[in-house]
Amino acid sequence: MANTQITAARAGTVTEEMKRVAERENRDPEFVREQVADGQAVIPANRNHDALDPMIIGREFATKVNANIGNSETTSDLETELEKLHTAVHYGADTVMDLGTGSDLDEIRETHLEHSPVPVGTVPLYEAVKRAERPEEITTDLLLEVIEKQAEQGVDYMTIHAGILAEHLPLTDGRKTGIVSRGGSIVAKWMEERGEQNPLFQVYDEICEIFAAHDVTFSLGDSLRPGSLADACDEAQYAELDTLGELTRRAWDHDVQVMVEGPGHVPMHRVAENVERQQAVCDGAPFYVLGPLVTDIAPGYDHITSSIGAAMAAQAGAAMLCYVTPKEHLGLPEEEDVRDGLAAYRIAAHAGDVANERSGARDWDDALSEARYEFDWREQFRLALDPDRAREYHDQTLPGDNYKEARFCSMCGVDFCSMRIDQDARDVEGGEMTRLETKTDLESSPASEVNLPPVGTHDSPSTPEPDSDGESALEGASDD
Ligand code: SF4
Repeated sequence: MANTQITAARAGTVTEEMKRVAERENRDPEFVREQVADGQAVIPANRNHDALDPMIIGREFATKVNANIGNSETTSDLETELEKLHTAVHYGADTVMDLGTGSDLDEIRETHLEHSPVPVGTVPLYEAVKRAERPEEITTDLLLEVIEKQAEQGVDYMTIHAGILAEHLPLTDGRKTGIVSRGGSIVAKWMEERGEQNPLFQVYDEICEIFAAHDVTFSLGDSLRPGSLADACDEAQYAELDTLGELTRRAWDHDVQVMVEGPGHVPMHRVAENVERQQAVCDGAPFYVLGPLVTDIAPGYDHITSSIGAAMAAQAGAAMLCYVTPKEHLGLPEEEDVRDGLAAYRIAAHAGDVANERSGARDWDDALSEARYEFDWREQFRLALDPDRAREYHDQTLPGDNYKEARFCSMCGVDFCSMRIDQDARDVEGGEMTRLETKTDLESSPASEVNLPPVGTHDSPSTPEPDSDGESALEGASDD
């Protein structure tokens, strides 16, 4: 018998998680319940994830951002992985995906779950690949064993590549970039080598039963997402999407929450079409998009190419954006890449919320603009998405404390500062600096804590930073 958020919602029960989510989003708990009951939103909250502060993903709520963390075969240690979690949460990730493929996967996953206040997602296929001698030797029993173990550990949502079917593979023959999803390429090779249907599709109902028992949310993987503009919106992508729609309804039949993953590389004029099609095919299940990158020409800047697509997707109704860092296509991201990627994506998510006129979303913009017009530099830094970056850039040319009161900055200089000139023109007597008559009161704004969090707002004692003397937070944490 399922005991999930959707089970409770359908029975008319408002859970503690729904109440907390309603508080964070400034919404009526009953509205949250309805959205979950109808599958229009998900609360990824495995009952074994004790450190979790529940959040919600759905197009009627603030747009969320995911950051990928995890080790690889070349970089792998527990302390580094905990630091990555801290960095992601500090810079504003609403969820993290542990995409580890290196060693000590169990220990690292358990550490992430022990410390993470945000939902943790995984791709269990990666662990199955590590445990099989060769990827083609993965069995359905091994897949179910890995999925059940991760569910018991407390993983909140899992990417399951069940939508790519054997009959879809010929549709990729003419593609410029073939199959670019890691999981998708593994499943495709498995099907080709063995001449069998996708093993995750074969045992989909069993996976649903495991998810229902632990309240794990599906993130249905888009194995056939386009890896280039040339392949965007092709027959293969949309054939898989149709299967994802069927799998969505099958999961709902088991009382399991579902979100659906989306592309990839898509030109700007077709981004909205992708969101609208997914919403129609998957009956409004939340859409979780990677980018999309709107051009292929800028390796090294793909946090920008993709955040343009992400902002458009958010405006069109995508519920969560998976960040892309400047290292995309080039290498494993480091801390500064994570910071740049999350900044780009939090801008995209907020821009989408402003465009969709989410209650209170623009109050943050208004408050910052007011501080800017009044030359209240300290308030401007405090409200900035990344306060440290804003202060650092200002102080590079005007570091003194006296410049925190200055009616100019080094961009235009004192004589050409348009805002100072404008204020002086309004105050012909040349008296006190103009003060705005009405100011945005962020404290009483309907903007929620998810709508106006400068960097660091999501920090939690459960994701401690390393001590300055070099002792790792992990060592300290595991002592207790
Ligand atoms: S100098 Fe230019 S950029 Fe700087 S505050 Fe004045 S108008 Fe703005």
